[in-house]
Parts: sequence; C-alpha cells; structure tokens
Amino acid sequence: MDYADRLSRARAATAAAGLDAMLVTPGPDLRYLTGYAAVGLERLTCLVLPAGGDPALVVPRLERPAALASPVGGLDLEVIDWAETEDPFPLAARLLPAGVARVAVDDQMHAAKVFAFQTALPAADLSLAGAVIAPLRMRKAPDEVAALRRAGEAIDRVHARMGEWLRPGRTEREVGRDIARAILAEGHAGDEWVVVGSGPNGASPHHEVSDRVVQPGDPVVVDIGGTTEEGYCSDSTRTYLVGGEPEREFAAYHEVVEAAQEAAVRAVRPGLAAETVDAAAREVIAAAGYGPAFVHRVGHGIGVETHEDPYMVAGNALPLEPGMAFSIEPGIYLAGRHGVRIEDIVVVTSDGADRLNHRPRSLTVL
Ligand code: ZN
Ligand code: ZN
Ligand code: ZN
Repeated sequence: MDYADRLSRARAATAAAGLDAMLVTPGPDLRYLTGYAAVGLERLTCLVLPAGGDPALVVPRLERPAALASPVGGLDLEVIDWAETEDPFPLAARLLPAGVARVAVDDQMHAAKVFAFQTALPAADLSLAGAVIAPLRMRKAPDEVAALRRAGEAIDRVHARMGEWLRPGRTEREVGRDIARAILAEGHAGDEWVVVGSGPNGASPHHEVSDRVVQPGDPVVVDIGGTTEEGYCSDSTRTYLVGGEPEREFAAYHEVVEAAQEAAVRAVRPGLAAETVDAAAREVIAAAGYGPAFVHRVGHGIGVETHEDPYMVAGNALPLEPGMAFSIEPGIYLAGRHGVRIEDIVVVTSDGADRLNHRPRSLTVL
C-alpha cells in the first residue's frame, strides 16, 4: 500500500480545495492515509496535514510505540507525542501557521474534539474533510483493488461452507456465531458482521440475528462481511433455501432478483451515472410487479469502510470511473413472509465491471 502517495495526493487536494489544513483523527480516513488503524478513544491522536507543509502525527506518548509499529513507522511522517498532563489541542494547533483560516476535520471526528479544535484555532473556519478525502478514497489504486479482491475471495470461502452451519433446528444466533468464526478463519481480521434472516426475518434488510429457529423449507438471507488485515472490507449476500421445495412465488421472485442483479452488473461502464446502475436493477424488479418491495438503493461504495462513496442511488449523477468499487445488491422484501437479496462487489474496469464475488447466484438449496 502506497501511503506516501496517498498523503501527497491528500495534501494536493487540500490545497486545491482552498483549505489551509486537514485534521484527521482515528477512523477510516486515518487508516486510508497512513495505514494506522488506531482506536478512537478520548485521548487525541491526530494527523495534521497542512496544505503547504509537511504532515505530522500527534499521538499520546503511551501510543507512540503502537503508531510506529504501524505503517506510519515507514513513512516520512514526524510523530509528535504528548504527555498525560499536556493539552494536545494547542500542541496540534501550533503545527499550523498562525492565524490559519480554513481547516477541514475528518467526518467522523468526535464532537468533543471538534469543539476543542475550534477553541485552539479561534480564527479558523472549520469544515468537513469528506469533500476532499472521499473523492480520493473512491478511486481505488491497483493495490487497493487487489486487496478488495482478496477480501472477496475470503468471504466467498465462507459462503461456500454455509451448509456446515445453516440447518433446520438451529437458531439464527447459533448459525451467526459459526459464520462469524468462519469469517475470521477464512482471512479477515475483524469487524465481522452477520445477517441471518430466516423466513419472515428475511423481509427486514438490516435484520442481524435472532433466536428464531430455522424451519425446514425456510428461505434465508445471509449477508456477511469483514475487514481483512490489510484494512479492506468484504460484503456479499446470498439467499438460501434450507431443505425442501421452494414456495412457487419465492422461487419466481428469487429469479427476478437474480435477473435484476445481472442487469445492473451488465450496465456498469465508465462514464455512466451512478444512478443508472440503480435504475437498471429497479426496472427489472418493477416490471415483475415488485417495485415497492425493493426498499433500498442498489449499492454502496466499499474500501476501508463497508459503506462509503460512491452510492448507487437515484439522484446521484456522478460518472463512474475505472477503479471505483461498490456493491450491487438488489432485493425484494415481502413483509411477514420472506425476502431475497443477492449482493456482489464489483470494480469498474476500462469497459465494464469486474465482479469480486463468484458464488452461484441462483437459488442454492442446502
Ligand atoms: Zn446494508
Ligand atoms: Zn451486504
Ligand atoms: Zn452491502
């Protein structure tokens, strides 16, 4: 991962946006820019990135070894530590030119830290750094696409083993615990999340798990993902049938979702507006009479965060570019009955889309 290149591009983007500096605390932006996956606690850790000078990382003294053990140790980045009794906000502010006027803070900075910076930089007009960093993050470099591909392969291995765990008589929670273990065993470092939506729970797109016992013949929506050691996320959904014959309507609308997903993947090409990808899936579902049952956008960007720019949603006219990575996950949800979602991550290529997930999309009976 070329963090030095990311830092220099961030500095150029900061200057191009007319900002004097960016302040980035622990979270996905800091991880993207430096590779440092610091946990955001009450003490201040902050990347200070002046538009016209060298960046520095302010850290609590006790976290200096952890910072240097991260990719930060290999970067030409000054690490400045502060002692327990010091106030780190004026210390960070002194790294910027006096009277600095336009400063952006990362979108996930704690409100308490934003206010402390406002006090330490009384002349500064604070704004959100997302407008500068999101455009960098959403255009993936080849090393990032490779990392996302490895994450996709890891989550595919978990889906391939679904029959080991998803069986009648077990609760969603029991199945989910086994899946979470497998997400780690198959190549993720953490932040695993698991949706096991059996029967009527499949009609709630962000249902997680419950104590419902999986019944023979249940459709089950399984949406899983995690973050790899390299810091990149996986996210893939398949809808399974647990034994027995599918209800006729369920089998029919599963095919509709499969066709919608295929149509959206085939629609992707550079220059196309992001909203057109959503429309491609929505047309198929609406034509089959299920339009109102597709209650969410068709996809979200993915990288160091599971949900990030660009969003495939009506109203987003952003033209797609090679290197953009996002999910394509149409669904149909019938309240009180069941649901279907099929989700792959794709990367925009020079003439289309490359899927990063390859498990069968047609209805799999376990
Ligand atoms: Zn989601
Ligand atoms: Zn998902
Ligand atoms: Zn997703």
